[in-house]
Amino acid sequence: MTQGAARSRSAVLPVAEAEAKPEFIGERFPASGVRPLVEDLPAGAEADGDEVSSLHLRLDRLMALDKLKSDFMNLTTHELRSPLAIVYGYLSMMESGMLGELSEGLHEAVGSSIQSVELMMQLVTELVEMARLDETRLDPTREPVDLAGVVAEASVSVDGSQRHHLNLDLGSGPAPVLGDRGQLLRVFSNIVDNAIKYSPDGGEIGIRLRRAGRQVSVDISDQGLGIAPSDMGRLFTRFGRIVTTATEGIGGTGLGLYLCRELVRRLGGDVTATSVEGQGSTFTVRLPGITRVVARSAT
Ligand code: ADP
Repeated sequence: MTQGAARSRSAVLPVAEAEAKPEFIGERFPASGVRPLVEDLPAGAEADGDEVSSLHLRLDRLMALDKLKSDFMNLTTHELRSPLAIVYGYLSMMESGMLGELSEGLHEAVGSSIQSVELMMQLVTELVEMARLDETRLDPTREPVDLAGVVAEASVSVDGSQRHHLNLDLGSGPAPVLGDRGQLLRVFSNIVDNAIKYSPDGGEIGIRLRRAGRQVSVDISDQGLGIAPSDMGRLFTRFGRIVTTATEGIGGTGLGLYLCRELVRRLGGDVTATSVEGQGSTFTVRLPGITRVVARSAT
């Protein structure tokens, strides 16, 4: 997500919500809580020679540790939101002049502090999303959603479209799939946002939705920086930022594409990419279509 785009998105919490007094994490998550979970296995259970029960116990222990990791990440990221939103709120007030006139230098310093806080808020939001994905690994929400409506909404909501030409081709009629509308909206916002972020101003972004048999596919193409063949393997990995001389000044977390693909795969689809360095990239999202028709503009 672009830093500018992040500012226009709802990742930013209202100041009122943020002003609840932050609580010390240790009070709710004592380090001593870890040990009972890990050591609470029946003594000698692994030494009785029963290989199957030993494997079950190991599995239980790994699952307990995995849950502990998710709980810790969830709690930490939630606790980070409040102080970050307070800092963001005050910086925004300073930037707007509500707290008094700023010198040119101070205005610049506040502006870049806001960008850094936005990036941290984006990271926190994506870490929360990652923890949530771990929790719902086996049970993603599947409601009928019109993908054409989602793609249209994502395309108009992404900031920066004034600086690029968005060419939207949705074909005709709805394109129903099963999924969670909010999550699908984030998937497409993220990919369109990347197309803008990694393209020079004035570039063309093509967004094309097709219904092929029982499948719906969406291509998002840009004429931007592209990706070197040797870096393609890093796409879609956790924290898989590709930093080159061309991208080093562009903010990001490297979690967006990983989350997009995880979400889409859990719905039985996939996200793939092709790219030519220096010429542009195409990201394709495929999802199984359904026949039930849903209203296009359900927000
Ligand atoms: P980030 O927050 O860094 O943008 P993503 O997971 O969305 O994280 O993307 C991972 C990496 O893939 C980015 O750091 C960028 O180098 C590369 N990338 C993603 N989309 C594009 C694109 N449309 N064109 C060129 N590179 C891209």
